[in-house]
Amino acid sequence: MSNRVARPKGGAKSAGGLAVGVLAALQEHGGVWFGWNGNTIRGEPGDPTLETDGPITYATIDLNARAYELYYNGFSNQALWPICHYLLGFFRYDRREFDEYRRVNALFARKLAPLLKPDDVIWVHDYHLIPMASELRRAGVTQPIGFFLHVPFPDVEVLRVLPVYQQLLRALCSYDVVGFHTQRDLRSFREAITEREIGSERADRRGSRPGTPMVADVFPIGLDVDDCQHQAQETGEQENVQRMVRHLHGRDLIIGVDRLDYSKGLEERFNAYERLLENYPANRNHVSYIQIAPTTRSGIRQYTEIRETLEQQAGRINGRFADIDWVPIRYLNRAFDRPTLMAFFREASVGLVTPVRDGMNLVAKEFIAAQDPDDPGVLVLSRLAGAADELTGAVLVNPYDIDGVADGIHTALSMSREERVSRHADMLRMLRENDITAWRTRFMNALLAAHERRAAAN
Ligand code: ADP
Repeated sequence: MSNRVARPKGGAKSAGGLAVGVLAALQEHGGVWFGWNGNTIRGEPGDPTLETDGPITYATIDLNARAYELYYNGFSNQALWPICHYLLGFFRYDRREFDEYRRVNALFARKLAPLLKPDDVIWVHDYHLIPMASELRRAGVTQPIGFFLHVPFPDVEVLRVLPVYQQLLRALCSYDVVGFHTQRDLRSFREAITEREIGSERADRRGSRPGTPMVADVFPIGLDVDDCQHQAQETGEQENVQRMVRHLHGRDLIIGVDRLDYSKGLEERFNAYERLLENYPANRNHVSYIQIAPTTRSGIRQYTEIRETLEQQAGRINGRFADIDWVPIRYLNRAFDRPTLMAFFREASVGLVTPVRDGMNLVAKEFIAAQDPDDPGVLVLSRLAGAADELTGAVLVNPYDIDGVADGIHTALSMSREERVSRHADMLRMLRENDITAWRTRFMNALLAAHERRAAAN
């Protein structure tokens, strides 16, 4: 279950880590993917529409305009998203939005319940659906229910800004298993639930206390590494990839690929690139930066503003440094299909992944997986992304430190082949250990075990 479902014939492919991860996990194992189909309607939604594509059945429902505004744009994306990313300047709270958030969760639960079979296992994804376990239990569902949070879990002092944080903590404690990307997220969650003794005894990691089987643990999301590598290699000959390479004229490619979101640190990144050209003039006319960033969440003002800001910044940088045969920065406000992105990554000398906060960041992992192991590019990665815990062979930077990021890009551009190969090999090994299969299997095993313990305790 996730808020949004990327339907097989739904037109635009979803650009987002959750959609990529859930799809990969379901493709391996089969199952039903339940959630919103992306349409807004008048009146109340009907029963789910079922579509089957290979091993996956997509069960999707519409949302009405009020739910879209209050539940999705409102509480989910203007209260929870900024809180989880420590960006309190973007935070706002409205009680009506929270009421609608709960109503939509109850609606999803009522629509899902009749589809369930006795041996089903329910895996709920992300911050839109935190109350889902309590709603499903209320609807009489007894099957195992797990929750995975794709965004960071904030420190309790930040969480306390949200007036209803205790209700959400209690709701999380209704799951059999709650999963996070990093140890830091888990630590914050534990602190939060023990602070006010919300389900404190339930937070036992192994769930070994009698009658208290809730498990919270770390399950870093991974990739289908072979698939990324294969796509990167196979797509290299494609016309649009070749066209991109021709336009480099032998220059080093620096690439960034993100959803257009303020958490991705794009303004800071553009400033850092400008600083690179200022502080290290030898790079002028020798590098080409392509930033791919399609618009998301266009119903929220701040998201449309970022686009304008970036266009202005790109214009200023190009105005300042461009030459008759060189455009320093190309900013493409659109999505590309996955194989093309993988091929772009493989051509790049530097991957720039500098969010000001990120749960994991799959782009960082995709960039590593797509490289040629004999001559790999270098990842410049924000320490504030969950991926930095695993990808320690990247050039790690603080995205707010503009000079520091410029230094990091220069270090990456100047790195010897030997060092690039060795750093890449270490990271690729890690990606293979923690791949998408490991993520799904570990979570599912934890969920089934926790459920058995709960059944035994009751
Ligand atoms: P988030 O979930 O916040 O969007 P992630 O980096 O974890 O961030 O996941 C983003 C996913 O969406 C990646 O798999 C990436 O390849 C994909 N994606 C990002 N930008 C684009 C784009 N411009 N076109 C197509 N896919 C994209």
